[in-house]
Amino acid sequence: MQPKLPICYFDARTGILCANCESRLRKGEITTADVEASKAIAHLSERNPELGKVTLRKAFEASGSYVLEFEQGDMAPLRSNPAIQQELEGALKGKVWLVGAGGSDRKFLEDVFFPAKVLTVNTVWLADGGKKTKVIVPAKRSERRIGDFDKLRDAVKQARGIELLVETEREAAANLYS
Ligand SMILES: [Zn+2]
Repeated sequence: MQPKLPICYFDARTGILCANCESRLRKGEITTADVEASKAIAHLSERNPELGKVTLRKAFEASGSYVLEFEQGDMAPLRSNPAIQQELEGALKGKVWLVGAGGSDRKFLEDVFFPAKVLTVNTVWLADGGKKTKVIVPAKRSERRIGDFDKLRDAVKQARGIELLVETEREAAANLYS
């Protein structure tokens, strides 16, 4: 089985783009992040059969961390083997979050925070008219489970244009009574 990727599978395997993919990259139809993620997935699919069946729709990169957007139906098989995420992080040398393509912002954020639970998603309006999206997660060791909040914020902004605020349940309660 070969994964479906933003570039040709053959290009991803060899690491050399064909004229067509090269021109799509130049025109900005695909990005360097798409190319790097495709190479990692093609390589890892040899020993991870789950990755052989996926469709990578798009990859986003921010400060060395990646958000990888797959077809919705790929999410359950990808999560059935937690080693896949770790192997992708090893191959891309950064933090990797797996998300399903399309869907609401809340669904996107639930994918990003998985396996941590998203308790609440709120829009916070700023004095300058801008807005941020505040996500409240359970207090217990959330950072360890979710990863570095700073990297997460950059990656989420890159992938969805969401300005993310993350609070644990405990912080949210403290802010409420302060
Ligand atoms: Zn190609």
